[in-house]
Amino acid sequence: MKAIIVGAGIAGLVAARQLGLAGWQALVLERSAAPRPDGYMMDFFGPGVEASERIGLHPYLAEVAYQVEAAEYMDPGGRVTASLDYLKFADLAGGNVLSLLRPDMESAALKALDEVEAGRVQLRYGVHIERMEHHGAQVQVWPGGGQPVETADLLIGADGIHSAVRAAFFGPEEDFLSPLGMRAAAFIVHEPALNRQFKNRFVLSDTVDRTAGIYGLRDSEVASFLVYRQDPLAKLDGTRERLRRIFAGAGGQVDRLLELCPPDPYDDAVAQVLVPCWHQRAVVLIGDAAAAVSLLAGQGGAMAVCAAAALGDALGPVSSPEQLPAALDEYERVMRPKIATAQASGRRAANSFLPRRKLGLLWRRLILRSTRLPGMDRIIARQIVKRLAK
Ligand SMILES: Cc1cc2nc3c(=O)[nH]c(=O)nc-3n(C[C@H](O)[C@H](O)[C@H](O)COP(=O)(O)OP(=O)(O)OC[C@H]3O[C@@H](n4cnc5c(N)ncnc54)[C@H](O)[C@@H]3O)c2cc1C
Repeated sequence: MKAIIVGAGIAGLVAARQLGLAGWQALVLERSAAPRPDGYMMDFFGPGVEASERIGLHPYLAEVAYQVEAAEYMDPGGRVTASLDYLKFADLAGGNVLSLLRPDMESAALKALDEVEAGRVQLRYGVHIERMEHHGAQVQVWPGGGQPVETADLLIGADGIHSAVRAAFFGPEEDFLSPLGMRAAAFIVHEPALNRQFKNRFVLSDTVDRTAGIYGLRDSEVASFLVYRQDPLAKLDGTRERLRRIFAGAGGQVDRLLELCPPDPYDDAVAQVLVPCWHQRAVVLIGDAAAAVSLLAGQGGAMAVCAAAALGDALGPVSSPEQLPAALDEYERVMRPKIATAQASGRRAANSFLPRRKLGLLWRRLILRSTRLPGMDRIIARQIVKRLAK
């Protein structure tokens, strides 16, 4: 059996590995010219950890993980207003919380492909697909650039929130995208002074209607993400200038970050993807393409790994196209409840992640400070883990 996988993000790479290990041929077509170096810091725990341990991916992820020691809120004057002892939180979550930079997570998934027998998985970067069509019981893909047409038993759309596979076979993006009223930008800068200040600490600005997250990486770099309220229908001007305007007054460290911001950083709507059925004929969606949960759920990477593992389990025993529909039903049966939980958690967080008033900031500080009371840390950590581990 042969699969074409569109997208070499976390979902696409892990799916390729699982299919390759199960004896399939997998051709991965990625639009970027090379693995994407840009990214942000991601929490990885709960179902994602379970899935990655089960499929043997966890050691690769653990190797590139960062050790966050504290998560803190900082006011515009640079004072810490509330904090969470991250190590204690990780401990209460069973010690199984990884902090991973998105590109590192992909490089770990790439390394894990070495376990697959040579020739089973083929990766092509810089591919601009021209057409995708059903062809009898199979699918055909025109990779563009004069490359020959590719035919496969299954086409896997792992091409992210703005999936071209979904648009080609399931319908236009507006039918499935559910914006949460915010945008998120992310970029990495080289800045030794900020790096020293934020090493091993994940710091969020304690600001109304917007927040900047900062983390000091290895090699004097700093990863940042900026989340801000934005009407999804508003006309947008240049990203860097918009970020500088919106985050003016958020603090000296944020100003410094935005001085170094590249002209056109990652910047996209914070949204969920709701698709009633993830497969039809010989096409299936996974990861953000099928069911983005949004960064507010803190589970997108984890869900991508879970979905790739579940798809691999379901497709592994398939040896003829007639067996595909039942296998794809099984994949959905396993993944739907996990996605429903993560998406519900993302929608709940949408109400509290960016407080609209100062009173909201004070309430959040109070909750976080209460974690220092004896026993409260356990209660709050258990609540979080219980919600996410279902
Ligand atoms: C700021 C931010 C913070 C986040 N924090 C967390 C967190 O803490 N924890 C967490 O678990 N998740 C987090 N997430 C979500 C997480 O990053 C995503 O859910 C996850 O990366 C989804 O993986 P994916 O492989 O499905 O899609 P993607 O990572 O989007 O990968 C899709 C791939 O497909 C390629 N592609 C797109 N279109 C085409 C095409 N037409 N042809 C070929 N290739 C194509 C893209 O170049 C890309 O390589 C965060 C997201 C953001 C934006």
